[in-house]
Amino acid sequence: MHKDIATPKRTKEILDKYGFSFKKSLGQNFLIDTNILRNIVEYGEITEKTAAIEIGPGIGALTEQIAKRAGKVFAFEIDQRLLPILEETLSPYQNVKVIHKDILKADVLSLIGDEIKEFEEVRVVANLPYYVTTPIIMKLLQDGLPLSSITVMLQKEVAERMAAKPSTKEYGSLSIAVQYYTKAETVMIVPKTVFVPQPNVDSAVIRLKVRDTPAVAVKDEAFFFEVVRASFGQRRKTILNNLTSNLHAGKEKKQVVEEALAKASIDPKRRGETLSIEEFGVLSDELLPSFV
Ligand code: SAM
Repeated sequence: MHKDIATPKRTKEILDKYGFSFKKSLGQNFLIDTNILRNIVEYGEITEKTAAIEIGPGIGALTEQIAKRAGKVFAFEIDQRLLPILEETLSPYQNVKVIHKDILKADVLSLIGDEIKEFEEVRVVANLPYYVTTPIIMKLLQDGLPLSSITVMLQKEVAERMAAKPSTKEYGSLSIAVQYYTKAETVMIVPKTVFVPQPNVDSAVIRLKVRDTPAVAVKDEAFFFEVVRASFGQRRKTILNNLTSNLHAGKEKKQVVEEALAKASIDPKRRGETLSIEEFGVLSDELLPSFV
């Protein structure tokens, strides 16, 4: 048995050996608590039937714990300086493939599409770089990957916004974008003390279970998201005011907007933050013919 990577002592030894210096610009905060890592993998529902995708393996702390449970791990790392380190730290695991790519630019499906076919399910587990959490999650959801779930560490505040329910201050267009594709749940709050270096913000682990079909069936997805964004334009304004101010040519079409709200049984004086995802779906379908 070799020592886990994620202990303060072993992490320091590895970093010292390679003279590694953290790059803040790449969101490099490494986990040094094996129990937390095991819990993330547990929440990630990883089994030998799983092809796991990890974003940002760092020195391999989480990768190692995933590799112990998964059929195979595909770990995307942007920082070339970490490649020789990962080669050493992950050498005991034959089921890990490190891919030196920026996840935001990578064509994930063409890179690993053939290899993931032999597994029953594909799941993402990661401790994300905090400067790009939302773009990474939206890319994974919209890239056409056959994902069952995404279980990731991110800023607590962002996790709360993603999992928020209507009529809360955290609820907004990000909640709807994420919940359109997934069922979102914050499963763990994580203290700053389990990272080196410690981040400035509190952290949480969110689990997004990908829906078989989106939460609402809409006629035009792009227009649905346009209506959602317009509705949250200024949070203190009514839904009517936000739609007329923020939808293209909304001002000239005030009457059309009023009629659509009436047909969707939505009081024009309500605020966007009180509408459920289903109500946004009905509303955008009612508005669509007048705005295409
Ligand atoms: N998984 C390790 C852990 O838990 O200790 C490291 C997590 S650290 C928060 C984020 C990692 O993501 C770093 O290794 C960083 O170099 C990498 N990273 C940052 N931006 C990336 C990107 N666009 N694509 C792939 N990896 C990225």
